[in-house]
Amino acid sequence: MRLTAHFSLAELTASNKAAALRIDNTPPADVLRRLQGTAEMLERIRSTVGRPIVVTSGYRCPPLNRAVGGVTSSDHVTGQAADIVAPAFGTPYQLARLLAPLVSTLGIGQLILEGVKGKQWVHVSTRIPDKLFNRVITITDAGAQVGIQVLS
Ligand SMILES: [Zn+2]
Repeated sequence: MRLTAHFSLAELTASNKAAALRIDNTPPADVLRRLQGTAEMLERIRSTVGRPIVVTSGYRCPPLNRAVGGVTSSDHVTGQAADIVAPAFGTPYQLARLLAPLVSTLGIGQLILEGVKGKQWVHVSTRIPDKLFNRVITITDAGAQVGIQVLS
């Protein structure tokens, strides 16, 4: 099922972990509505970046979220978040730097540059966090920092 011109429901629910553990990651109706909004945000990001956006993790049903060690309050569980990379554009750091000044324009509620356990990606969510200083942050093995920071 195509949600927008460049993003499908399959892309936003695919998970190797779910497949390996035989977890059914089919979203319920309320999540599906939010995934539509997430796909529309990704579409705006794609037109800004001008290159394909690869979704590495979208919706996670609660059992899948537990299996990947996600926090229980994760926006992935409500269908409001996606982890993305854009290899044809640049590194996750470069992608985050491009998007950070545009969060309001693009309807990105939260932007996180993540560099954890040797992997790097950009987390985008349609939900604005309760504490506004958490809107654009960098998370590494060392913890969270405000703004987009260079990853070592
Ligand atoms: Zn994420």
